[in-house]
Amino acid sequence: MIADQPVAEIIAVGSEIVSGFTVDTNSSHLARTLSGVGIEVRFISAVGDEEHLIADAVQLGLSRSDVVLTTGGLGPTVDDKTRAAVAFATGTSLVFRPELLEQIKSRFGEWGRTMSNNNLQQAYTPEGSLAIENPVGTAPSFITTHKDSRVICLPGVPREMIYLLDHEVVPYLVSNFPFTNVIKSRVLHTVGIGESVVDSEISDLLSLESPQIGLLAHSGVVDIKITATASDEVRTNELIVRVEGIVRDRLGDAVFGADEESLELVVLNQLEALGHTIAVVEIGTRGQLAEKLSIADAGRGIFRAGVIHNSRSVTDDSELNSYLEKTVMGCLHTYNTDLCAASMVVKGETGNKIAVALLLAETGDVLIETRGHGGHVESAREWSANLGLNLVRTTLS
Ligand code: ATP
Repeated sequence: MIADQPVAEIIAVGSEIVSGFTVDTNSSHLARTLSGVGIEVRFISAVGDEEHLIADAVQLGLSRSDVVLTTGGLGPTVDDKTRAAVAFATGTSLVFRPELLEQIKSRFGEWGRTMSNNNLQQAYTPEGSLAIENPVGTAPSFITTHKDSRVICLPGVPREMIYLLDHEVVPYLVSNFPFTNVIKSRVLHTVGIGESVVDSEISDLLSLESPQIGLLAHSGVVDIKITATASDEVRTNELIVRVEGIVRDRLGDAVFGADEESLELVVLNQLEALGHTIAVVEIGTRGQLAEKLSIADAGRGIFRAGVIHNSRSVTDDSELNSYLEKTVMGCLHTYNTDLCAASMVVKGETGNKIAVALLLAETGDVLIETRGHGGHVESAREWSANLGLNLVRTTLS
């Protein structure tokens, strides 16, 4: 199975996952972490708490992947079936591990509680497994080797799963797959140009084998994800930096940030650098602009206030413009900020219209932009918040 690049798959175990009551965040965390150490995840699946179904999933995983990671089903109750299922899938039996029982007992001791008999079953692993102590919970993990592949079983509680992944599993994988490549990604964020424009500007790059480039369109914001794979981190970074430079050259000012830099964060940082404050007024957007700004402000006091009006109709563009002008002037007057931005969704018979406005106290100028929006009104609301933020960004830069 092991070729140039090891491949892995993830199995989330739990009836609460397949019934839709718990969102499987563990698998996405596992997948991101594995790709960070150069292990490509080819499949993610979820299975309920039935032993034969888990065993089927593990067997299928072992037939096509170097590493099968499971998360969940290691608890002390009767519906925790992962241990037995892995033993069945690998043709072994469960064996009692006195050292695991001691670890579980000492955990209960630290918490000042008495271990119940149910927890005994957590001291069993498939024969020949490498046991992994769990210092942050009761469920020990284990790694079972089967032919050339491995099954790595982790708990379902996210905090425990992440701890064991970082402290035990990643070091194990790195030392067992020394030829592992490094996979890294960088996401560039653009605003103000549509996905089709981005696509046509960088279409030649989209077909590159490495780095791979993918587009993801949100409401008004298009992300460009650059993913590179190379033998070491330096080479991986070089590949990303080279393509990032080309993308930035072609798309210019439409690129507003990268990775964790949100549009609202970029705008607030611009305002902070200028020593400016801002208030916003929203009509028919349910407060999306104020929400974004208040989260990104994080107590800095740059975003002063957000006024939310219910939606209203306007007869034509001239009424829309004078309404927006009056609204931003009133807001600026009330909150005495350096800027006031407005975002508005105008519902129409044949689609929605987005309107944004910006008033600068220093000059008294009001800038207004409008555009049609054919999609769902929920997307129009977010689009108008992003368009409003972009009007501030481009005006200040
Ligand atoms: P323990 O017995 O120590 O709790 P476990 O391995 O038995 O560990 P589960 O009982 O399967 O874990 O899950 C415990 C809780 O962890 C679930 O109720 C759920 O809230 C959360 N959880 C389980 N699996 C996932 C998952 N894939 N993604 C996010 N949360 C999960």
